[in-house]
Amino acid sequence: MLDRRNFIRISSFTSLLGITKATAGAGIPATKPIVISTWDFGKAANAEAWKILNAGGKVVDAVEAGVKIPEADESNQSVGYGGLPDRDGRVTLDACIMDGANLACGSVACLEHIVHPISVAKLVMQTTPHVMLVGDGALQFALANGFTKTNLLTPKSEKDWKEWLKKAEYKPVINIEKQFTGDKNNHDTIGMIAIDATGNIGGACTTSGLAYKMHGRVGDSPIIGAGLYADSEVGAATSTGMGEEVIRTCGSHTVVELMRQGYSPEQACKKAVERIIKRNPERAKTLQVGFLALNKKGEFGAYAIHKGFNYAVKSNKEEKIYESKYALNS
Ligand code: ASP
Repeated sequence: MLDRRNFIRISSFTSLLGITKATAGAGIPATKPIVISTWDFGKAANAEAWKILNAGGKVVDAVEAGVKIPEADESNQSVGYGGLPDRDGRVTLDACIMDGANLACGSVACLEHIVHPISVAKLVMQTTPHVMLVGDGALQFALANGFTKTNLLTPKSEKDWKEWLKKAEYKPVINIEKQFTGDKNNHDTIGMIAIDATGNIGGACTTSGLAYKMHGRVGDSPIIGAGLYADSEVGAATSTGMGEEVIRTCGSHTVVELMRQGYSPEQACKKAVERIIKRNPERAKTLQVGFLALNKKGEFGAYAIHKGFNYAVKSNKEEKIYESKYALNS
C-alpha cells in the first residue's frame, strides 16, 4: 500500500516524466528557433531577426525587424526605399505580416512615401479591426501613427526608370520588363518565415512589386494566403516571383494546406509550382515563381518554376544560402 510520502514521490516522478514527454512530443524542432527567407539578401535580414529569436523574442517582432533591413537598403531595388517605381515613376509598396498562433494578420498595399511598410502592416494587425489598408488610406493611417514621409525614389531608380521610359509600352504584358532590363532582375521580394523559441510560427513579406507595373497594381506579397501564410498548427509559406500567378493559385495558403495533408515543405512547394505550370504551361515558360516553406518541426524546403531562386536559412545549426530545386529547364 502506498503511504502518502511514497505517493507524493511517485506522482512527482511521473509528472516529471510527463513534462519531459510533453516537451519531447510537442513537435518542437531541435532547430528552433529558425528563420528562413527568400533570396540571398535574406541573409542580412535573417541575422537581424535572429537577434530577437535568439533572445527568446516573439516571432512577429523578429520577422518585422528582419525584413526592415532590405526595406531600408537603397541598393536593393526590389524592396522598400530605393525600389523601382511603377510606370508613372511612383514607388508603391506592398507588405504583410502574420502570426500563426491566432491567425492575426495585417497588410498594406500600394503604400507610398513610407520606408517601412511592414511596420505599418504590423500596426494594422495590432491596432485596427481590419486586415488590409491600401493606397491613400494606408498612408493616412501611417502618418496618423507617427510614420514620416520620405521620397522613396532614389536617383539610381529614377535613372533606371527614365531609361525604361524610352521604349515603354504602357500595357500589362507578363514579363515585359525583361525586354527593358535585359538580364537584370526586375522583381524580387523578401518573404521571411520563422519559428520562435516557444514554437510559434509567423512571417512577413514586403516588396516594391514588379518594376514598371501599372499604377495601382497590387501583387501577391501583401495578400494573406497568396504571398504569405502562417498557421502554427502546421507551418508557414511565402512566395516570390510573378505575383499574378501566385494570387490565382492562393499559393502560400495552398502550400500550407499541402503540408497539413502531410507533404514535406519541399514537396508542398513543388506541388504548388506544378499547379501553376499545369494550368498554363506556355505562360509558365516565361515567368518565375518560387515558394519557400517551413513546417512546425523546423523542416524547410523550396521549389521554383525556373532555375535561379535561392533562399537563406539561419538556425542554431547553420547560416546558409540554399539553391532551390526547379521544375522547368529554361
Ligand atoms: N511577388 C512580387 C510581386 O508580384 C514580386 C517578386 O517577388 O518578384 O509583386
